[in-house]
Amino acid sequence: MSGMELQGLSLIGAQRGAPGGAEFTAFDPVSAEDLPLTFHSASVADAQRATALASTAAPVLAALDGRQRGAFLSSIAAHLESGRAEFEHWVPLETGLPSARASGELSRTIAQLRLFAGWVEEGSWVDARIEHGDPTRTPLARPDLRSMLRALGPVVVFGASNFPLAFSVAGGDSASAWAAGCPVIVKAHPAHPASSERAGLAIRAAIKQCGLPEGTFSLLFDASQAIGSALLRDSQVRAVAFTGSRRGGRALLDIAAARPDPIPVYAEMGSVNPVFVMPQALAARGDAIAAQLHASATQGVGQFCTNPGVMVVPHGVVGDAWVVKLAGLFAGTPVGSMLTRPIAESYLEGIQRLASSAGVRCLHVKAASATGGVPSLFEVDSDLFLSDPTLHEEVFGPCSLIVRSQDLTDSLDIARSLPGQLTATVIADSGDYTASSVLLEVLQEKAGRVLMNGVPTGVEVSHAMVHGGPWPAATAPLTGSVGTAAMLRFCRRVCWQDVPDALLPAALQESNPAELLRLVDGQWRR
Ligand code: NAP
Repeated sequence: MSGMELQGLSLIGAQRGAPGGAEFTAFDPVSAEDLPLTFHSASVADAQRATALASTAAPVLAALDGRQRGAFLSSIAAHLESGRAEFEHWVPLETGLPSARASGELSRTIAQLRLFAGWVEEGSWVDARIEHGDPTRTPLARPDLRSMLRALGPVVVFGASNFPLAFSVAGGDSASAWAAGCPVIVKAHPAHPASSERAGLAIRAAIKQCGLPEGTFSLLFDASQAIGSALLRDSQVRAVAFTGSRRGGRALLDIAAARPDPIPVYAEMGSVNPVFVMPQALAARGDAIAAQLHASATQGVGQFCTNPGVMVVPHGVVGDAWVVKLAGLFAGTPVGSMLTRPIAESYLEGIQRLASSAGVRCLHVKAASATGGVPSLFEVDSDLFLSDPTLHEEVFGPCSLIVRSQDLTDSLDIARSLPGQLTATVIADSGDYTASSVLLEVLQEKAGRVLMNGVPTGVEVSHAMVHGGPWPAATAPLTGSVGTAAMLRFCRRVCWQDVPDALLPAALQESNPAELLRLVDGQWRR
């Protein structure tokens, strides 16, 4: 394998971390064997150096204009593209994901960076607002007020295990932080260290090409959680982005809240993504719906935070036949390799919990496996589902729970009983629309994204996307972690009052040199 040499050492700005920390190896989850590549945990001194460098870089990045920021993001995209063969080698080896997925995810990561590049180059995202002063107003003169979004400062990103590229080192969290003008320190997910280092080298090359400060990016490896915790407590860090378990997200939130100066933690922690199959749709096209939901629930061995974990299906003979059909599809699905051993173990625990719950019927569970993602389908009546909140918990993997609903009132109660969700789906034909509109009213209170006649997996990277939701889907319900709106997590609004034009940021100057779309005295104008 030619290409950039991987050393298994952290990237601290332009330097390497020192060897000597606890070692861990890259691991192949399919063969269950260590890969011949050793990684060295960063030291607390490495972490401190990374945050100090980031702190120095922060004002420089915040002051870059949109064109410069866009050039940096595009340069990362180009450097990732030139490492395509290496990513297609390492990602499948470290994750067990097929090479087509690795290739597709790399393309998504590159497209994501380019989307942010175009967005910051245009520049209106800073949401400039201008209200001209009025010295003649009585009894008090009205001040001249101008506000816009500006970068928050160093951001710590925890790479996600289930998206080794698109939600890892150069993924959406990092891209949105750089786009907002913030330096990034990534704590690498130990499930894909070689892919992480390779992505880190691409970012480093882009920093060099664009002449940016070395503290724009650091990448820290760690065999334990010590470095992640140290970063969270570091006074120079201004925000945290995380994708992973509820336990992990909660722990990071608590550490950040306990700081003398609490900082925001944007954690995306997954959900059961309920799908409500309405009676007319079920009767008209049940087989197609079963095929669609089966594919969504089992693709990628079910390791998506938007995987449909709960399907609400009407009682009665049509529903009964549909459930049998879906169980047959699950039965024909091969057992897949899961991303990591802990994820496989926690999946096994989850399906064993469901299998041993009184009143929950096992429709299809192959012989349990300690390492594999055994496709699993369960069924429960609505009264039990409503009375047992443990059935509302995500089982991360190819597992779904069918809840049999008596009628619309029952479905509404089910919807109301659920905690915050990333997504909620209604599958309906026109004859179901009256009932669907009532259901959608409830679901939009619960979910970051409400969809009809589709599947929740497959999150479009775009301007209008929301990938977040009320607790416990995420920690900050106003924002999401996919698409350009994700940048808002790493900004704060600053208002300039009566500051002379020449001293204002360009985006707020009277002449509007970059021709941004701005809110001027209550009117949107360029
Ligand atoms: P995780 O256990 O939450 O870990 C994610 C990252 O956060 C890892 O780098 C982990 O370090 C770090 N971390 C977790 N708790 C920490 C703490 N208290 N202090 C410092 N660092 C901490 O997630 P995972 O390893 O990806 O998978 C475990 C479970 O998370 C899955 O079974 C699934 O339920 C869920 N998950 C959800 C999503 C989603 O999209 N919402 C995605 C993937 C996984 P260590 O690895 O060293 O612990």
